[in-house]
Amino acid sequence: MIRFDYARPTAVAEALQAGAGTHTAYLAGGTNLVDLMKENVARPLQVVDINRLPLNRIEELDGGGLRLGALVTNNDTAYDGRVQERYPLLASAILAGASPQLRNAATNGGNLNQRTRCYYFYDVDTPCNKRNPGEGCGAIGGVNRIHAILGTSEQCIATHPSDMCVALAALDAQVQVSGSAGDRTIPFADYHRLPGDEPSRDNTLQPGELVTAIDLPEDSFATNYTYLKLRDRLSYAFALVSAAVAMRLGDDGRIAECRVALGGVAHKPWRQPEAERLLIGEQPGESVFQAVADAVLRGAIGRGKNDFKIELARRVVVRALGQAAARTPQSQTDKRIA
Ligand SMILES: Cc1cc2nc3c(=O)[nH]c(=O)nc-3n(C[C@H](O)[C@H](O)[C@H](O)COP(=O)(O)OP(=O)(O)OC[C@H]3O[C@@H](n4cnc5c(N)ncnc54)[C@H](O)[C@@H]3O)c2cc1C
Ligand code: SF4
Repeated sequence: MIRFDYARPTAVAEALQAGAGTHTAYLAGGTNLVDLMKENVARPLQVVDINRLPLNRIEELDGGGLRLGALVTNNDTAYDGRVQERYPLLASAILAGASPQLRNAATNGGNLNQRTRCYYFYDVDTPCNKRNPGEGCGAIGGVNRIHAILGTSEQCIATHPSDMCVALAALDAQVQVSGSAGDRTIPFADYHRLPGDEPSRDNTLQPGELVTAIDLPEDSFATNYTYLKLRDRLSYAFALVSAAVAMRLGDDGRIAECRVALGGVAHKPWRQPEAERLLIGEQPGESVFQAVADAVLRGAIGRGKNDFKIELARRVVVRALGQAAARTPQSQTDKRIA
């Protein structure tokens, strides 16, 4: 491990000042950053430990939503009574991820900013454009079973690994950010980015900017929702494909609104608004769900070992829509393990 300076500010302004230089990293729960530093993938010269900042509360927002502090842990968020009652889609997505021990340490800000799980990204002896721009991509033509099928580029086919972010995309959350130029709000759809020709950038944060909170809108889709995650093991595994569905049915049983976000398939949680619009005014049913799945997967490209994901994702969309319509969430909130 290389030598680095360490700061532990107690105010956001101090953290921004400490984080203003180049080669700086904010340290939250450390469940991803510390691994990256041990593997020599991340080599910050300045680590700014943000755990003493006052960003560890969940608060009501004027107008009915909730503000999740960036330092609230994933478990404290998922088990918060207001989140469980009003945003069960988010609670079940969080609880589908990692393990209880990891979720007790992992924070909301860290979950948004965790890096891809691409094997080549973590192996410094292999080429990776995300780690070293211009070096090439080991996954294209390599072992790419877990890689993206949508929104890829010839530079990078990595996926964003978060479960929580898939639900946040479906809920149209907003990310609150502070930086040296002031505070700003980023709609969730604009927070993560596709790799394009700049795969080293996962998101639209500017250098030194800090996520302070995530805002959930009042509209919580607490009745017809599901988070469906398919993976190699039933727990403690990242998604091969997942889907968060938030649906509203009218009094006549027809679909009034529906959002479908996919995880495990792209460099960001994947939404296709034109596909979602196909559902409006329809009775829930297999044929319209199939049409939506086809529309969501239009343009999907396999790279060999991940070809299976295209059909898997199609089936996940159909099943998740059916579950949401029938009010049968896949991932129930389990009991808390301290
Ligand atoms: C074995 C294992 C299994 C896992 N399984 C899953 C899974 O199934 N599903 C899933 O979703 N996740 C999974 N995870 C990932 C886990 O959820 C993340 O590691 C965790 O959410 C990161 O949060 P953290 O607070 O520990 O972040 P850190 O490790 O502290 O930071 C991660 C990154 O975010 C940056 N950062 C942190 N906070 C902020 C902030 N407020 N503003 C700006 N940048 C910030 C850091 O600089 C760093 O780059 C797994 C992790 C492990 C180790
Ligand atoms: S897919 Fe992206 S992260 Fe993986 S090796 Fe290629 S460039 Fe690196």
